[in-house]
Amino acid sequence: MRPISYVRTEGADGIDRAVGLVTADPDSHFLAGGTTEVDLLRQHVLAPNRLVDINRLPLSGVEELPDGGLRIGALTRMSEVAAAPAVQERLPMVARALVLGASAQLRHMASMGGNMMQKVRCGYYRDGESPCNKREPGAGCAALGGVSRTHAVLGTSEHCIATHPSDVAVPLVALDAVIRTRTADSERAYAIDEFFLPPGDTPDREHPLTHGELITAIDVPTPPLARRSLYLKVRDRESYEFALVSVAAALEVRDGKVSGVRIALGGVGTRPWRARRAEDALVGGPATTASFDLAARAELAEARTTPMNAFKPELARRTLVRALETLTRDGSQS
Ligand code: SF4
Repeated sequence: MRPISYVRTEGADGIDRAVGLVTADPDSHFLAGGTTEVDLLRQHVLAPNRLVDINRLPLSGVEELPDGGLRIGALTRMSEVAAAPAVQERLPMVARALVLGASAQLRHMASMGGNMMQKVRCGYYRDGESPCNKREPGAGCAALGGVSRTHAVLGTSEHCIATHPSDVAVPLVALDAVIRTRTADSERAYAIDEFFLPPGDTPDREHPLTHGELITAIDVPTPPLARRSLYLKVRDRESYEFALVSVAAALEVRDGKVSGVRIALGGVGTRPWRARRAEDALVGGPATTASFDLAARAELAEARTTPMNAFKPELARRTLVRALETLTRDGSQS
């Protein structure tokens, strides 16, 4: 058994203390809900010498921002965000992604900041032994010639094809959320599109954060069209399971034409995938199934598949068309 030391931080002063402790020690990790960290400790994928418990820091809650957006504290639990009236009314796709994102037990434990930092579900990463460039740079990628049914088809590289696992990050990307952080000497803000890095040549680097940099909040704009939004998730079973494909979409139609749209895809990208090509193809055009289909095809035109996940582009196309049809028909939030 390998000993790990444990430090609990609390109170307003505790934020700087926690950041200072982790920043000063490359073998220290933050501990929030623990739903990723503890899994990976048990599997010997992560091996910190010290855990700095941040659960008692004052970083919870959903607050109104002066510009009409919402600030979600990094330690707010997934279940708390999903139940917040402001989220349910103004951001239904976020509430739905949270409900579909994990079992009730996990939703009560997992923090929003932790959700942004969760690790990939690639079995080769998590077995702690197989060649994996994300776990051990330069080791190779066992998934490229191995079991890859759930792996990504967009944003992949020759070094990693792991799918980003988060559900709630998908609508947050569609909404242009901002990730706020604290370092030992500054506060920072990252556009969410810049927060999730593509694997490229460095799949081990998933975020721009420095060691010890702590997520403090997520700022989420609440544009009017987001009230008419949905999160549609396709998975192998209708219980706790990761997405094969998911779609977060918000749509505004005037006089039969698309006047505003936000789309992001989950389950298919190495990061939560903003579907800008589809959005560009849709705006100003007719809100018809034929246009939706063309837009989906444009988004998926550069998908790169393996023999095992070759079904994903077609599944994504159908799911995106269905999501837009549903929004056009009745504004459903399912
Ligand atoms: Fe590792 Fe990525 Fe390859 Fe999975 S897909 S084995 S995480 S490098």
